[in-house]
This record gives sequence, structure tokens and C-alpha cells, in this order.
Amino acid sequence: MIELTLPALAEAPLPFVARLRTRRQDDAHRDDAFLCDEDDAGVTFAGAHGLLAIDGMASAALDGDVVLVQPDGGRVERLLRAGSPHNTLLVTERCDQLCVMCSQPPKKTHIDRFALLEQACLLAEADSVIGISGGEPTLYKGQLLSLIERIVAARPDLAFHVLTNGQHFEAADVARLRNPLFAHVLWGIPLYARDPGLHDLIVGKTGAFARLEQSLAHLVMSGARIELRTVLVQDNLAELPALARYVTTRLRFLHAWSIMQLEHVGFARNRWAQLYVNHSRDFAPIAAALDHAKLHGMPARLFNFPRCTVPEQYRYLAAASISDWKRRYVETCGSCREREACTGFFEWHPDAATAGVHPL
Ligand code: SF4
Repeated sequence: MIELTLPALAEAPLPFVARLRTRRQDDAHRDDAFLCDEDDAGVTFAGAHGLLAIDGMASAALDGDVVLVQPDGGRVERLLRAGSPHNTLLVTERCDQLCVMCSQPPKKTHIDRFALLEQACLLAEADSVIGISGGEPTLYKGQLLSLIERIVAARPDLAFHVLTNGQHFEAADVARLRNPLFAHVLWGIPLYARDPGLHDLIVGKTGAFARLEQSLAHLVMSGARIELRTVLVQDNLAELPALARYVTTRLRFLHAWSIMQLEHVGFARNRWAQLYVNHSRDFAPIAAALDHAKLHGMPARLFNFPRCTVPEQYRYLAAASISDWKRRYVETCGSCREREACTGFFEWHPDAATAGVHPL
């Protein structure tokens, strides 16, 4: 697993953002911190905020990373790792839903880091797609939209993938979202079932389905690009074909529909036996949903499905979706010809749930 948080000591008293460099380059920026010492224990960088010592990493592994330094916590967060397509910024840990499988259980408190995250985005590698997640980012919709507007105006090479529960878009947002700057955003929005009661049950909020439909209407009026996300749990497995019919009739404007396997973390860890679907044993409802989507021209994909666990005719839909920092392969994968294209497993996926894996 790639560590995203590292122990560190900084001279500066307050949090700051820095881009770590092992040597000067043409695109030098005032927030660059340059390598000045390295030994077996770690590395030391120097920049506008003074010295920064990071433990347990070699400089080559950090070169180009954009980090958020938290001096009082004695750590750095690797916000944007150089060369990684899987960089996601957490803008808040608050949320107004309580999904049964939530991988990042919400907290009541919010620490406003928007200014620091904006500074980090401006240092991103060229042509990056930056994920924005939470908690629920649109609880701070005004700040979020302003951040996107300012960054895309300054860095039109960047794009964003924002994960949101779709509970907070309003008619008053449409004019703002029509700004071409928001063509750089893909909104990832979860919908778990066609049945409002079942969707509300899964997200732990009465009326969530109805409010989501309103938000989707506002987003489509604004020309937004939307990826619908459906995490598979035992309660919605049999309902997938009905959801496919809803998606292909009512939500034809979607950019993509992602059907996602469960992550053994957060709330799902303690509810695994009640939630997890062994799709290699019962793929029929998923196949029916995929067939219906294909028939109606809806681009559907499978996220977090190891390729050898998917019937061959649907394998091309299984994307390498698990982020590099939390992805692992099991011993059997060593001789697999499709490993490069395969998503593998979450680092915390139970070993028992990898039974049946076989090299392709
Ligand atoms: S053997 Fe491993 S790498 Fe190959 S398809 Fe299965 S899970 Fe993926």
C-alpha cells in the first residue's frame, strides 16, 4: 500500500502547501521546496516556509508530490502524488446521508481547507484529473463551485471528478453551472435503486431519492456531465435490471453508469455478511442490467470487479478502477496475462473473498 500520510517536522507553525522537488526545474513556483538533505531516516526539503523533514521516504518517491504540511499534527498529506491518476482531495468529512456501506463514515466537525486545497490544485501536473470527495462536498457548495471556477480559469488543462450525493443542487445553480468552466467537471452521483424506498433505506435518509431526482433535473438543465454510481449490496442486487430500465429511460443524458463492488472498509467492514454480493456466484442480475444498458446505448462499466471473476463476455467492462495507493493483487495473480488491465483487490479486501481467483 502506498502511504498517503507521512510523519514530518516543519519549522513553520501553520499548515502550508508545498511541491517537493529534488532539483530545480523550468516550471519553478514560489511554493516549491527543494531537497537539501537525505539519509536512511528520511529527507529534508527547504522552501518559502523553512525546513521540512519527512521520515521514512526516499526523495525520488516524493519528487513532484504536492503535500499539505500539518506542523501541529507532525505530518504531511500527499495531496497530489506525481504521476498518479488517482489523486483525490477530501474537502469535508461531514455528510447528510448515512449510507449503509459508507467507506468514509462521516464526522460532525468540518475543518475548512479550501484555500489550501486550491493552492495545491494550482501546482498539479499538467492535464491532471483531480478527484474531489468527502463527506459531502456540496455541503459547502458555494466554496466548492468557486474553487472549481478559479482553478479552471487559471489552469484550463485541469479537470475534476466530484463525488457528491446529489442532494443540494437547486434551480438557482443552473445559470452558474452553465459556465463553460464546468465542462471540466464530471459529477459522480450515487443511485442505488429505482425504488425510492429502497434507495432511501440504503442511504439512510428519507426523501433522498426524490431530492436526487430534483438535483439531476437541475444538473441536466445546466449541461453537466454526470456519472451515475451504483454500489452493489445484497438489497439492490435483484433490483439492478429495474434500475437499468430507469437509467435508460429517465436518465438517458448520463455520461456513464458505473456498477461498483463493495469496499471492505468503513461501515461495510462490520456489515460485510449482510451486504457483500459474491458476484461470481450470481452474476445474472448484473448481466441483465448490462445487457439492457448496452441495448439502449448507455455506457455501463464494472468498477472493483477483478477480471477473472466476471463472465468472459462482460470482462471488457471491468475497469482497473481501484486507486493505485489501495490496490493489491493476490499470489495467484502473479502469472496472469490480464493483470495490467485488472483492478485487483482493495488492500483491505478479506482473503476469504478472493477464493476462486484464477490467472487468465
Ligand atoms: S488472476 Fe488476479 S490479475 Fe488476473 S484477473 Fe484474476 S484478480 Fe485479476
